[in-house]
Amino acid sequence: MTKPFSASVLTLYPEMFPGPLGHSLAGRALENGLWSLDTVPIRDFATDRHHTVDDTPAGGGAGMVMRPDILARALDHSCEKHPDLPILAMTPRGYPLTQSKVRSLSQGAGAIIICGRFEGMDERLFEARAIEPVSVGDYILSGGEMAALTLLDACIRLIPGVMGKITSGEDESFETGLLEYPQYTRPVEWEGLSIPEVLRSGNHAHIKAWRQAMSERDTRLRRPDLWERYRSVQASRPLARNKKDRNEK
Ligand code: SAH
Repeated sequence: MTKPFSASVLTLYPEMFPGPLGHSLAGRALENGLWSLDTVPIRDFATDRHHTVDDTPAGGGAGMVMRPDILARALDHSCEKHPDLPILAMTPRGYPLTQSKVRSLSQGAGAIIICGRFEGMDERLFEARAIEPVSVGDYILSGGEMAALTLLDACIRLIPGVMGKITSGEDESFETGLLEYPQYTRPVEWEGLSIPEVLRSGNHAHIKAWRQAMSERDTRLRRPDLWERYRSVQASRPLARNKKDRNEK
């Protein structure tokens, strides 16, 4: 058997892990050895009596910055244990996390993940080590832990054997370049609202066409950025293939 996906998380708050990842799908997968987790308490690598990990920002400004020497010691410790893992650092200054990045990580050996706190990490850390900065979105969290949990949750559910059905996850939002179509379940009537007739028709071609139309409508409305990209990909596809795809679907 190949080695399971390993996550090594550098944090000032190791007790936050596995946290929500100890429950449900991810929790069961952790128990079953489909992935593994270790935490590296950054404070253990401080050298002074007070276990200081931060200092004031060079050039002035509010808050504190995490020191590069202490972070590097914690990181080198984790790298020794996991020499093959890519290193990620959670930061709003990073490359945006996408479903395709999540998918490629989930097919790899795992990741070492550095969680920031305060105003973030000394930039020299990124120069001195091969670290990929990753952001989970255009907003500021109080620490990298929630961002790391988010990234790991997204990866873990794609590890083979974690989700029930092997096909689940394939036609979800972003996988096709569009948001997913709206979903419904029983009761058929609720507060005067019905499940759309077409979904009860049993006509699979009609259902497929309706779902595609809804995906396109909601993507256009809610995510003009995705819609633009989707449209330009469609436009650049050769006509013959387009037609063939339409016939197949
Ligand atoms: N002053 C920084 C924000 C620091 S927030 C800035 O403006 O860029 C403190 C820590 O929370 C960061 O170091 C990072 O680890 C984490 N964090 C906050 N928002 C994040 C986001 N959108 N994505 C990933 N990590 C985030």
